[in-house]
Amino acid sequence: MTSTTSASLRESFLDAAAVLLPVRCAGCGDPDRSLCPPCRRELSPCITAERVGSVPVWAALEYSGVPRRVLLAVKEQGRVDAVPALARALRVAVEEAQRAARRDGRRADALLPVLIPTTRAAWRQRGFHPSAMMLARARILVPPLWHALRLTRQTRDQVGLTAESRSQNRSGSLVASARLRGRRCLIVDDIVTSGATIAEAARAIGAVGGEVTGAVAVARTPRRGRPELCGEPQIPPSQ
Ligand SMILES: [Zn+2]
Repeated sequence: MTSTTSASLRESFLDAAAVLLPVRCAGCGDPDRSLCPPCRRELSPCITAERVGSVPVWAALEYSGVPRRVLLAVKEQGRVDAVPALARALRVAVEEAQRAARRDGRRADALLPVLIPTTRAAWRQRGFHPSAMMLARARILVPPLWHALRLTRQTRDQVGLTAESRSQNRSGSLVASARLRGRRCLIVDDIVTSGATIAEAARAIGAVGGEVTGAVAVARTPRRGRPELCGEPQIPPSQ
């Protein structure tokens, strides 16, 4: 057994399962690695900030190439062995949101992570909630309120929908627990595309008197004509 393998074994049970079973890199398909070193490097976070309406959104990765393949492997092939690498990226996005909250003079520890719920069909297919697993893996406390958002109806998968149909598909699809009243919420999702889901979550939280301080995502779809700058992400002004 190589030292790399024993390090993985120590790191987590999930990684251990991956190295004991025949596995291919979730990013490029190379044999015998859960994630090869070059693909791991492609999962180094490059935090970008944008706004969906008035909600600042921090995303850790661009949803293309290796990050896209790894996220799809987790979500569609149940490759939970690749979750820790994505969790590290998500954690950096959460830290950036907390930093921004501190700059606003607010207590960062008061941010309550609020997860976007999955559809029943997705839950049946996967048996786990990808963002919940990533948050847990990133050791970000998810209190029992993580069921704070519920679907009012089973929405269609957003994949392949235009921005307009995404918005219609999501509109009015979420309801928030009354327990969010007065809480400062940080919306957590895996992939941001048009922002329709985040806008709907923010509406639902606002409707019960909760405050949305921002949203974080593991990845966001590439934005045309926008230069990618890593480092200190600047939140664009509210429209
Ligand atoms: Zn690879």
